[in-house]
Amino acid sequence: MFRTAIPVGRWAGIAVRVHWSVLIVLFLITDLLASAVLPLAAPGASAGWYWVTGGLTAVGFLASLLLHELSHAAVARRHGVGVKKITLWMLGGAAELKDEPSTPRADFQIAVAVSPLISPRRALRGAAARARAAVPPRAP
Ligand SMILES: [Zn+2]
Repeated sequence: MFRTAIPVGRWAGIAVRVHWSVLIVLFLITDLLASAVLPLAAPGASAGWYWVTGGLTAVGFLASLLLHELSHAAVARRHGVGVKKITLWMLGGAAELKDEPSTPRADFQIAVAVSPLISPRRALRGAAARARAAVPPRAP
């Protein structure tokens, strides 16, 4: 799966890889934010501010996605299931397990019970941080 993914590091022995298609998502999120969302949400800022903010938000999205996959891996390990690698790609991420979970309960917890809760929590933290952020600089 994802043979053309590029290794970008390891977390607790788990290889983390990024497929080239992630660049498409990075561009789409950045472009959408910079050209449509941010000019409406924060009018009067410079185009450069919109693009930098859009790009940083897109990178934050990918970091959140990686955290989500790492949480799947952490729960899998807690249940004694090894994790081969994590790959981020255009439509999300994938944590590839070495074995099947030993029980349906473990399978459920790895897939559903804990990991998806990470994303809404992160989203709320991000929204709170954004609300506290200073007003964007005005274009001269
Ligand atoms: Zn998931």
